[in-house]
Formats: sequence, C-alpha cells, structure tokens
Amino acid sequence: MVITNTNEIIGKIQEASHVLVGIGQEWQVTMDEMLCEPEFLSKYQELEKLDEETKQYQLQFLISDYYEKNMPDRLREAYNVLKELLGEKNYFIVTLMTDDYISQDGFRRENTVAPCGNFKQLQCGQNCSEILIDKKELQSNTCQNCGGALYYNNIYAPKYNEQGYLPQWERYMKWLQGTVNKNLVMLELGVGLELASVIRWPFEKTLTYNQKAQLLRINETFSMLPENMSERGFRLQKDSVDVIIACKNADISL
Ligand SMILES: [Zn+2]
Repeated sequence: MVITNTNEIIGKIQEASHVLVGIGQEWQVTMDEMLCEPEFLSKYQELEKLDEETKQYQLQFLISDYYEKNMPDRLREAYNVLKELLGEKNYFIVTLMTDDYISQDGFRRENTVAPCGNFKQLQCGQNCSEILIDKKELQSNTCQNCGGALYYNNIYAPKYNEQGYLPQWERYMKWLQGTVNKNLVMLELGVGLELASVIRWPFEKTLTYNQKAQLLRINETFSMLPENMSERGFRLQKDSVDVIIACKNADISL
C-alpha cells in the first residue's frame, strides 16, 4: 500500500507498542554539503596539494571535525521531528550513518546502534588489537601496539574493528526478541540497496515472521516492497528526510 498522508505515519507510530527505525543513505551529508562550510573548504583545498594517499588518509580527520561542529539545517530539523514522533515510545534506532548525529540530546543512546561505526573513536588500521581510542584522548596518529596508522573506527578503515558497535548490536538483538507478537512498526528511512543486509533485508524478514508487524518504507529511489508483503507493508517513493520534516504537521498530503 502507498502512504499518502502524514497522518498515516504519525498514526501508526502512535498506535505501535514498539518502533524500530532504520536510517540509511538519504540521511548522509554529501561532500558538496561539507564543501559549503568555509572551514572545511579551506582545509580541503590544503589537502588537494598532497599526494592522493595522504589526502585520503587526512580527509577522515576533516570529516570528523565537520561532524563534530556542523549539522545541515535540513537534517537537524528532520532529527528533531523524529525525536518528537518517537517521544516516549519504546524504540530502537539502527543507522547506517557514521556521523554520530543519532547520539545528540533527546535520543536514548542506549537504544541506538551504528554498525558502520563513527568518526569519534580511532582504531589501528590493521586491527592488530581491539583497542579503541577516543578522539579527545588521541596523542599520536600511530598504533601504540604495531606502529601502524590509526583510522577512525568505521567501515572505511582498512580492517574495520567491529567491537566498537557489537555490544550495542547485542542490545538491539535482545530488544528485537522482545517485539515478537507485539505491535511493532518499522520505519525504514532512505535505506538503499547498498548494505541491504544490515537494515533492509532483516526488516523484511521481521515483517514476515511477526504477523503483527508493519513496515513503512520511505525512499525516493528504492521504495519497492517484496510482492508478498502488500498487507502490512507500506511504501512511499519520496525522500525520507523531506517526509519526516513534513510529519511535523498532521494531515499533510505526501
Ligand atoms: Zn596496530
């Protein structure tokens, strides 16, 4: 079924006993957006003088600083509306984003997981030990164990150290077990086909297993649902950030 009005999204969340939110690629800050920020732009121009390998390595530190200091207004508004929509609901949020915006005030951090990592903690690029170092406590860019380069603890590291998110992932799995036969609403926001095994496919699987669950798939490009999910699957072929912002108001046509 196709979602046509903000009331359908707001209403389903209100009626749910559990809400599972999946945040995907449509919520990613693009490089063009980052380049609009003057400090990022001037540092980026400095990087362009370096060789490609060094540039790519140094870029992660610029991105980390960007995320720490900036959030595009449109995304800020969308996250704020999402907070209001979720309110006191029993929710869990899985995000593909590495920007850590989901850790902002107002979200329950213990009920969020970012399996792609973040730009706040660093790891050995070769993952020689599972030690993670907070950005604020960083003293050198080399691993104390093997002397190799440190990278931010995310999927872009040469060998990703998954210990950064696995404890939260276990919490998520336990939470999900508690939704069996409950009135679960899955709000899938802008999740593409890339990394589909993290959010997209598991949400479909949960929809199949939990006969009371409903899936709201909002995506400008990939909103299609598998054929056998028409009854409890709802879709909307629109940018999910815009749709969530529209949910600030009831009874808006989508
Ligand atoms: Zn190392």
